[in-house]
Amino acid sequence: MFEVIVVGAGPTGLLLAGDLAEAGVAVTVLEKRDGKVSNLSRAFAVHARTLELLDARGLVEEVDGTGVGHVTDIRLFDRVHVDLGALPSRFPYMLVTPQYNVERALLARAVKAGVEIVYDAAVTAVRQDAGGAEVDTTGGRTARTTWSVRTGSTARCGRRSGSRSPASRC
Ligand SMILES: Cc1cc2nc3c(=O)[nH]c(=O)nc-3n(C[C@H](O)[C@H](O)[C@H](O)COP(=O)(O)OP(=O)(O)OC[C@H]3O[C@@H](n4cnc5c(N)ncnc54)[C@H](O)[C@@H]3O)c2cc1C
Repeated sequence: MFEVIVVGAGPTGLLLAGDLAEAGVAVTVLEKRDGKVSNLSRAFAVHARTLELLDARGLVEEVDGTGVGHVTDIRLFDRVHVDLGALPSRFPYMLVTPQYNVERALLARAVKAGVEIVYDAAVTAVRQDAGGAEVDTTGGRTARTTWSVRTGSTARCGRRSGSRSPASRC
């Protein structure tokens, strides 16, 4: 029986897993990719609020060190001007770095906190019941857990009671 299964080792899953593990919760992350860190850049702009959240977890300097620059001023079509430098934040800019650099930092933190990451584990179904949830992965394996949280494009949460809660709406 697992305590929490998080589906997806993207930024959302890795952040949540690390937070839970640092709070003493046993977490397993199931990721359909193989063990390599994703080379998909997707996000390249890390915004002020994300930097604040990384800072709260002691990761902002590491992530900032991977950046190719700070953008403080955005101008679009000669009409729209966004002055990020005026943001009331300790990080009044947009950091330019590929998403995989953020994922690397979150992954290292999660693993250090004791999170188990299982790769090559695509989740194919999640079934809730009164006692928890059953999570199926490719290869016909089934794991039982108290809580399951699906992230990214699989996003939805399962709660053992099946009732709605703030967590179940993420
Ligand atoms: C082209 C593009 C550009 C973007 N640019 C920006 C930007 O500049 N700034 C910004 O802030 N945001 C940007 N975004 C949004 C940002 O990428 C997402 O908000 C972020 O990736 C969401 O993280 P996540 O962890 O929720 O999901 P994801 O990053 O999608 O991660 C989900 C993870 O779950 C895994 N997974 C999926 N299905 C299963 C399954 N069935 N079983 C097991 N594992 C599974 C995937 O392999 C993946 O690793 C961009 C997105 C795109 C597509």
